[in-house]
Amino acid sequence: MEKTIAVIRGDGIGPEIVNEAIKVLNRIAAKYGHTFRYVEVDMGGAAIDKWGEPLPAAMLERCLAADSVLLGAVGGPKWDGLPGDQRPEKGLLALRAGMGLYANNRPAKLWPQLAAASPLKPEIVQQGIDFVVVRELIGGVYFGSHTTSQENGEAKATDVMSYSEHEVERIGRIAFETARKRRKKVASVDKANVLDTSRLWRRVMHRLAEEYPDVAYSDVLVDNAAMQIVKDPSQFDVLVTENMFGDILSDEASMITGSIGMIPSSSLGEGSRGLYEPIHGSAPDIAGQDKANPIGTILSAAMLLKYSFDLDAEAAAIEAAVGAALDAGLRTGDMLAPGCKPVRCSEMGSAIADFL
Ligand code: NAD
Repeated sequence: MEKTIAVIRGDGIGPEIVNEAIKVLNRIAAKYGHTFRYVEVDMGGAAIDKWGEPLPAAMLERCLAADSVLLGAVGGPKWDGLPGDQRPEKGLLALRAGMGLYANNRPAKLWPQLAAASPLKPEIVQQGIDFVVVRELIGGVYFGSHTTSQENGEAKATDVMSYSEHEVERIGRIAFETARKRRKKVASVDKANVLDTSRLWRRVMHRLAEEYPDVAYSDVLVDNAAMQIVKDPSQFDVLVTENMFGDILSDEASMITGSIGMIPSSSLGEGSRGLYEPIHGSAPDIAGQDKANPIGTILSAAMLLKYSFDLDAEAAAIEAAVGAALDAGLRTGDMLAPGCKPVRCSEMGSAIADFL
């Protein structure tokens, strides 16, 4: 297979962690006979410094011309003083919108080797945690109108939540297709006992469930979902939900797995091109010191292979190599535990590549 991957190294630890992901991708290419070409894209603070804006049009074009996009992280104190529309994070929002990425997919997977880092009780952790939250990314209340007015002598604020059928259907399809590549279970999270948007959401999901008879489907109210995630996370495979519920539940889900440096994510739209990035930020406090945990980015590269290129075996091989590195007791500083071997960011990347 020959593919072009747009690479956004970004700011802070971004360049360091992306280097390690590319190291692993190159090893995959050599082992499985693929050719991956990398196109450098400036985005975030690096683009502000070089081009005066966080996502120049030519850089978005590079992403749109590539087969998929890998991102480290953007932002940092250097650019914190800039007005909101000129900040590094604006580049990320513009990239998501420009690429039409409406589906955010964030796995909550607990590596057994790191079980002690989970805040949940051991008897719950022992059941296993391995599910994904599929979150609608460009609709709902975050994208409705927001107004603050004066009424009867007091301030009143209104945020509008709206969804149309096609917006629900397209995220629903992503969830069912994702489940088909996993354990074939979808739980749709809504608040259909109260909200009209949720009742529409549920109707569309039920229609889709009939189209995917091989996938087991259930409805879960969002308040119950929040409880079940900490009470019995092993019951879930794919959780699909609207933008705000997904924002909250996906943070809850990543917290129970223990380590921010381990978690990858994908954002997808129409077609197979996506944006893959770790969920953490640019960690300016450890930038440039070869201390960062590159695993979230390496697992993001594995997601890229699986979801954009349909290279399931290669993605599984990367996950197995990460497991082997953890089994060998290798730990970056953020997840160091007694009896384990401290390694630097570059050493962790090399070890994972070698385990491949
Ligand atoms: P952060 O995720 O960068 O860091 C939080 C803490 O976790 C820090 O102590 C950091 O050292 C640690 N950490 C994060 N990733 C790590 C890794 N891979 N290995 C080891 N330790 C890791 O969050 P923050 O400090 O709130 O934000 C820093 C900057 O990142 C800000 O400018 C913020 O806007 C930006 N940010 C960017 C993204 C993105 O690019 N998608 C996401 C979140 C925050």
